[in-house]
Amino acid sequence: MTHHLVNADLHSHSTVSDGTLSPTALAERAHAGGVELWALTDHDELAGQQAAREAALDLGMDYLTGCEISVSFAGQTVHIVGLGFDDTDPALVAGLAATRGGRGERARAMAEGLARVGIPGAYEGALKYVGNPELISRTHFGRYLVEIGICADAHEVFRRYLTEGKPGYVPHRWARLGDAVRWITQAGGVAVIAHPARYRFTPTEEFALFGEFATHGGRGVEVMTGSHSAPERITYADMALEFDLLASRGSDFHAPGESRTELGDLPDLPGRLTPVWSVLQHRVHRAR
Ligand code: AMP
Ligand code: MN
Ligand code: MN
Ligand code: MN
Repeated sequence: MTHHLVNADLHSHSTVSDGTLSPTALAERAHAGGVELWALTDHDELAGQQAAREAALDLGMDYLTGCEISVSFAGQTVHIVGLGFDDTDPALVAGLAATRGGRGERARAMAEGLARVGIPGAYEGALKYVGNPELISRTHFGRYLVEIGICADAHEVFRRYLTEGKPGYVPHRWARLGDAVRWITQAGGVAVIAHPARYRFTPTEEFALFGEFATHGGRGVEVMTGSHSAPERITYADMALEFDLLASRGSDFHAPGESRTELGDLPDLPGRLTPVWSVLQHRVHRAR
């Protein structure tokens, strides 16, 4: 089987961050969806890696270690996916702990903002959905706001309450781009720009992001992601070639009924691109 045609899903979330399935249940769903090479990429946290790897190998699915690091760049939050690293690397482990460190205080401030517009108790409400107390995120607030009927779905909640300028939004300083890329790379992995079409950069800022990312040692970009429309997939396939980057593929699955893209349910990478997993073969945990 050529590398392009592997059903690789290298972006997904469990209860260790803002998904609703345990790493083991997620592995089962990925396997049932036809995934052959999987990575669990929880936000800023590695606590699910061992369970995910063991479940994957038991099911006969190859596995790459993964994470998704929150980074602040040019006034926005950018996500950097790391793949195939050593998940015991001390600098990576410490960097992720520092990155998620401010989430508790941020969540309190988000709840204060929501209380000011007549939505009390959102911190406690969001906590009901949290699997890992260090990883309270906007997603958990979103689920609570949908629960109490303020909005119909998560998309509307984010648009009206949880994005910049809205009552529940609190600006936050995440990791620096170069640090995130180095933590991943020095732990033996490859850094990948997650869902580039989701950011609201000017062309100049986007050029700076791709350029600085490569300067720091970043090597990949997500092309086939559940966060991209069909035209966006073409745009970023072109960008991958222009910046000489490896291409990645992943659903960004969070929860049944919430995520539009199922695990593994994406088009194959175009043949003109080099899959990120082609340079990570020595890092793959093999099922057999
Ligand atoms: P945080 O890390 O706390 O800022 O939360 C970011 C998470 O919120 C992302 O990883 C997504 O899972 C989720 N998210 C961001 N924007 C949206 C949106 N428009 N609709 C639904 N979920 C979103
Ligand atoms: Mn998320
Ligand atoms: Mn993301
Ligand atoms: Mn994600």
